[in-house]
Parts: sequence; structure tokens; C-alpha cells
Amino acid sequence: MGMEMDIIKLKHITKQYDDGFVALKDINLTIESGKFYSLLGPSGSGKSTILRIIAGFTQPTDGKVYFDGKDITNLDAAKRHINTVFQNYALFPHLNVFENVAFGLKIKKKPMNEIKPAVKDALHMVRLDGYANREISELSGGQQQRVAIARAIVNEPKVLLLDESLSALDKRLRKDMQFELRAIQKKLGITFIFVTHDQEEALSMSDEIFVLNDGEIQQSGSPVAIYDEPVNDFVARFIGDSN
Ligand code: ADP
Ligand code: MG
Repeated sequence: MGMEMDIIKLKHITKQYDDGFVALKDINLTIESGKFYSLLGPSGSGKSTILRIIAGFTQPTDGKVYFDGKDITNLDAAKRHINTVFQNYALFPHLNVFENVAFGLKIKKKPMNEIKPAVKDALHMVRLDGYANREISELSGGQQQRVAIARAIVNEPKVLLLDESLSALDKRLRKDMQFELRAIQKKLGITFIFVTHDQEEALSMSDEIFVLNDGEIQQSGSPVAIYDEPVNDFVARFIGDSN
């Protein structure tokens, strides 16, 4: 069996919202399995729209989405092996850590003898061993972020999408979580696609970066290539702002 290296491909993706606004213009990108990617660009450049199209929360106006070589453009979000972590985590404050992480598995009616070890493994992965019975309100911001990540990895997705997941954290914690996220990604060996408007964050964390502006990819490549050889004035200025 050949292993597919390219896990996600977007081909000629266009997105026009109902009000007529064209948020994405002919986006083409390839995501290889097991790497850490960033979508980097200013507010309004189309980053979240790309993530929502990959997740299946919104449909492109034109173009195709491929997963493992198969056209999934019209496939339900729930049937894609793709999970998303949002900026506000969207944890359930009235449920404890275990219930939050187990939530999706319970909805899928998995038996408890499968749910328990899966939750334990996920909590171990984010270094929250022993936190299963804690209330969400007792946890620090960083710990809540880690619960959100545990919940997103507990059903072993092939791809994890993270939309400005660290933006709400203070600077110090953000640094710690950057390191932590990278470590989790390496340990799991799955593909992460991380959305950020923070140049420094993308440069320090990613294997590959897509720089977006006005619904178009300006440049893609390694952090070093993008930093050293920006292809146009926009990228040069945008990356330069981090200095
Ligand atoms: P980013 O995540 O890079 O900030 P978004 O993908 O959220 O950008 O949005 C890209 C553009 O599309 C923005 O100009 C935004 O206002 C617009 N947009 C996003 N969602 C909608 C919507 N539901 N209807 C109309 N315009 C939208
Ligand atoms: Mg966004």
C-alpha cells in the first residue's frame, strides 16, 4: 500500500459570500501529511475562510477540495477526518475535563471501555494527567487551551485545524503554548494547519507558511525562504513588521 504524502489539496478555490464579497480568489495549495503549516496574513485576508472550507463548515463557490486524493468538496464536515480548535476553545463550563474531552465520542455512542482510555491518552498528550475530574472553571487559561486540544485529538483526526488558537493568551503563556503545540504535533505525527496574523508566531512554529493577502496566496515556503526572500513588496513589508 502506497502512503499518500499529499493529504489535502485545494484546487482553484473561490469563495464569494452571499453579500457578493469575494473572500478567496483561485486558491491552490497542497498540504503534506505530518507537517506543521501556518496560514499567515492580516485580518480579513481569508485565512478563516480557507479553514472553514477545509473543515467543511462552508462550501466554496468554485473549485475542489481533495483529501488523500479523494474529492471531498461536498462531503459532510462530520465525515472528514479533520478537527478544529477555535480561539475561544468553546469548552462546556458546566462539564468537567473528562466530560469535555469525551463529548464527541459520547455523541458517536462509543462504548465507555473505549472512551476512557482514549480520554486518558489525550490528556496525557497535553500533560493533563490526573485532571479528568477537575472543573473547567478551576483551570488556568493555558490548561483550558490544552483541554480544547485534548478534545480535538481524542478521536485521532488526520488533520487538526487551529484558528488563532493562541491569540487570546497573554504573551508569556503564548510562548509556552507555541512550544507545546509544536511538541504535540511532533508526538502525534499528524498534520496541523495553524491560522495566525502574527508573523513571529508563524516563523517560529511552521515547517511551511502560506502568506495570504486579499484572498490570494502571496507566497508559500519555509520560514527561512519567506523571511530571506520575500517575493513581493507585500510579503517583505508584512514579514518586516515583525522586526
Ligand atoms: P481572516 O480570517 O483572514 O481574518 P476571513 O476569512 O474571516 O479572514 O474573512 C475574509 C473576508 O471575508 C473578510 O473581508 C470578511 O469580512 C469576509 N467575510 C467573512 N465571512 C463572511 C460572511 N459570512 N459574509 C460576508 N463576508 C464575509
Ligand atoms: Mg480569521
